[in-house]
Amino acid sequence: MNIHEHQAKELLRRYDVPVPSGCVAFTPDEAAHAARKLGGEVWVVKSQIHAGGRGAGYFAEHSSGQGGVRVVRSLADVHASAVDMLGKTLITKETGPAGRVVKRLYVEQGCDGAHDLSARDFYLGILIDPATSRVTLMASTEGGVDIEDVAARTPEKILKVAIDPASGIQPFHARRLASGLGLSGKQVDAATRFILSTYRAFTELDASIVEINPLRVTDSGDGSVKLMALDARFAFDDNALFRHPDIEAMRDESDDDPVEIKASRHGMNYVCFDGNIGCMVNGAGLAMATVDIIKQHGGEPANFLDVGGSATRERVAAAFRLIIGDPKVDGILVNIFGGIMRCDMVAEGVVEAVRDADLTVPLVVRLEGTHAALGRQILRDARLPILCARDLADGAEKIVAAVRATQKHGGR
Ligand code: ADP
Ligand code: MG
Repeated sequence: MNIHEHQAKELLRRYDVPVPSGCVAFTPDEAAHAARKLGGEVWVVKSQIHAGGRGAGYFAEHSSGQGGVRVVRSLADVHASAVDMLGKTLITKETGPAGRVVKRLYVEQGCDGAHDLSARDFYLGILIDPATSRVTLMASTEGGVDIEDVAARTPEKILKVAIDPASGIQPFHARRLASGLGLSGKQVDAATRFILSTYRAFTELDASIVEINPLRVTDSGDGSVKLMALDARFAFDDNALFRHPDIEAMRDESDDDPVEIKASRHGMNYVCFDGNIGCMVNGAGLAMATVDIIKQHGGEPANFLDVGGSATRERVAAAFRLIIGDPKVDGILVNIFGGIMRCDMVAEGVVEAVRDADLTVPLVVRLEGTHAALGRQILRDARLPILCARDLADGAEKIVAAVRATQKHGGR
């Protein structure tokens, strides 16, 4: 699950990670009021969407080329920026061409780096590295820019420290990163505190990613070193959300993919791709295999919907409706390996959904395992345009061929 930047900063604040003061605003008047309340002379008006790259993004509605994060120096400009951004579609590197509509802003105190020659921007990330299966700290001197670009062009500029789960983080891990970034003296102490606190937030909140980019470091030279998270991002492990009802309450469904939301409400996992074959499967492993074999046969999956190991007939029907509802889908492959889940029940769910939905795309069903023969019988008896497959390869071959045939005849 993703949350907004202002929520991420609220969480970091609880762990004593320094962040600028700020207020959420839903209207231009609220934005101006928030800036007045915050005081100071510089404010940053920030679009809140579940995607990064906002500063370098642009709005579909205007040609000014101005992005979704704006540094302003008057209350009138706070108001004007809010008018400019609210209700508009922000397109960034991460949103795809459709963009996201900005529905809320975060008005924040500006940390004026331009007037402080000591200001440096760093990147700090904590995530679980799939290669080592360890929580890994990542840092770079290249802060405030797209870290993926840094990783691609100059991977040596990204420092990594993996944490042994038995010992957890130790101050020397953080110090090693801080010195690797070229910090010295009191800066290292301040960075160590910052990293340890951020790590605590990551582990105690069951996060899967924390990213602070940029992490602004200023040093006046007279011993006052300041670190500040100017941007913050969290993603959470959905399986641990039951332990964090306060984080669950931060969910902003209006900024998520509606199909994913519906799927998660039914307790199912939905993953979207760029192709046109919808897949309904049970189990993540079978999902991967199904996607691979479709590609091997020259097809492109549009999505997979994992109905889980113990789905009911109703859940199967709901899953099926979600797949049919995706306009990208030109054909559907149902691939179920019945264990605890019985194939006859899957067949009943599919038949119910096909009858209701007035199916206009080809459908191939492969059932194997518990009550598979009975399941196939139910599909045959329904006298619906459903193709049965003998095995996974046969299923992939049939759906790819059927989709090609409909396209040859001018599509649906
Ligand atoms: P994104 O990563 O989505 O582009 P950021 O929050 O990183 O959004 O903002 C983009 C840039 O705006 C930052 O790299 C930083 O230079 C500047 N910025 C963001 N917040 C502040 C702030 N509170 N004070 C000063 N500059 C800021
Ligand atoms: Mg950023």
